[in-house]
Amino acid sequence: MHELAVTESILQIALRHLPKEEKLRIANVYLVIGQLSSIVDDSVQFYWDILTRDTLASNSILHFKRIPAEFLCLNCNTRYHPEKEFLECPTCSASEVKIIAGEEFYIEAIDVEEFTFSQDSMK
Ligand SMILES: [Zn+2]
Repeated sequence: MHELAVTESILQIALRHLPKEEKLRIANVYLVIGQLSSIVDDSVQFYWDILTRDTLASNSILHFKRIPAEFLCLNCNTRYHPEKEFLECPTCSASEVKIIAGEEFYIEAIDVEEFTFSQDSMK
C-alpha cells in the first residue's frame, strides 16, 4: 500500500513541469507501469482524484500503460514472458533469470492545456 506516496510524487512531478509564467493546467498524465511493479492502477487513480482537488491538476486524467514482464534465462538465453505462477524458463526450467522488462514505473508524458477562468470569474 505505497500508492499514496507514489501518487503524491507523481503529482509533485506533474506540477513541477507546469510553466509558471503561463496559465496552464494539467490535462493528462501518461504513466508506464511494469507488470512486476506492485502499483495498483485503481489505488493510484483513487488517490489522484483526492490529491489533485484544488490544484492545477484537478480533473486531469491518468492514463496507464502496462508493460508485460520479460525475463532472460541466464542458463539458455531464452527470452520469455512469464506467467504469473510459472516464473521459471519454459525451455530449460531454470530459475536463474534476469528481468528485462516489467519493473518500470515512470511518467511517460504530461499534457497541459490552457487554464480558462470560469465565466463567473470573468465578470
Ligand atoms: Zn532456460
